[in-house]
Amino acid sequence: MDRWELIIIGGGVAGLTAGIYGSRSGLKTLVLEENIPGGQAAVAPIIENYPGFPYGISGMELVDRMLRQAERMGVKIHQFEGVIRLDLHGDEKIVETEKTAYRAEAIIIASGSHHRRLGVPGEEELQGRGVSYCAVCDGPLFKGKRVAVIGGGNSAAVSAIYLSNLASNVKLIHRRDQLRAEKVLLDNLRERNVEIIWNTLVKEIKGKSRVEKIILLNNETGEISELNVDGVFIQVGEEPNSKFAEEAGVRVDEKGYIIVDARQRTNIEGVFAAGDVTACPIKQIGTAVGQAIIAATEAFGYIKRPYYYKG
Ligand code: NAP
Repeated sequence: MDRWELIIIGGGVAGLTAGIYGSRSGLKTLVLEENIPGGQAAVAPIIENYPGFPYGISGMELVDRMLRQAERMGVKIHQFEGVIRLDLHGDEKIVETEKTAYRAEAIIIASGSHHRRLGVPGEEELQGRGVSYCAVCDGPLFKGKRVAVIGGGNSAAVSAIYLSNLASNVKLIHRRDQLRAEKVLLDNLRERNVEIIWNTLVKEIKGKSRVEKIILLNNETGEISELNVDGVFIQVGEEPNSKFAEEAGVRVDEKGYIIVDARQRTNIEGVFAAGDVTACPIKQIGTAVGQAIIAATEAFGYIKRPYYYKG
């Protein structure tokens, strides 16, 4: 079995940052990524709040820079190698993937999150045929068409703004009378002429071979209506990719997010977690980077036990 000092599960912003710090501190470091590196940040149209980029940077460009930096530091990255099982009981941790198994002295779980489903009829059947969870990936397919974005958070607002450059008509549909998205995004939405439909739930997505319309319920008046659209972008939050960790005994909260202390330690010695998979309530690239730096620094201390390390 291949032996590593540090294995990082997930190659998004948190995983790449942990890799940079782990490798730079001299640890033999492996990042396992079930897809291609980059995670959710890679599909952010524009990132305006990560320090150092006064005019913003695309998610793709930012993660590409992080990836090149990690590789330059000597991090080994295995893409398309998802983790299916962990054995965390012994001093050596065993990480089983779809391809093989590895031993590690410490691991950092940075497996991120996935898009929450709306859970309405038509959503699953029409996915890829008008139903999308990623504006950057699928937006260009809706050039000159009518789209609806569902949700009231930052992701929904950013998606609606991005789509307003492509689609002929963008409606943002939210179940409340106010958004939780940041004010700067709200101002931007207004400027972009995105119409917001308040207090409204999507009850069904309809269409024969592609999305044709959505059925809406106004939760104040009880009125049911139809809206003709070509695309539906669902942005109703995230759920953590933590099942494999929970099954191995890592403690999670009631929503499945991994519980960590201020040093990014989980309940199991030698197992750390960082980024969107953790219970940190602020899901930002900056917080993922910060958590990953702490996790990798703590993992180094745990493995090498320098004189100043407080175990
Ligand atoms: P979020 O902040 O959790 O917002 C999810 C939105 O979807 C909420 O408005 C919620 O409504 C709504 N929602 C949830 N379930 C629903 C359902 N079944 N039907 C209808 N609406 C539903 O999620 P997010 O926008 O994906 O963002 C995730 C995290 O990433 C957040 O921490 C966010 O700040 C961060 N993020 C940051 C940026 C940025 O800084 N530029 C960009 C993207 C994401 P309620 O409001 O009623 O709960």
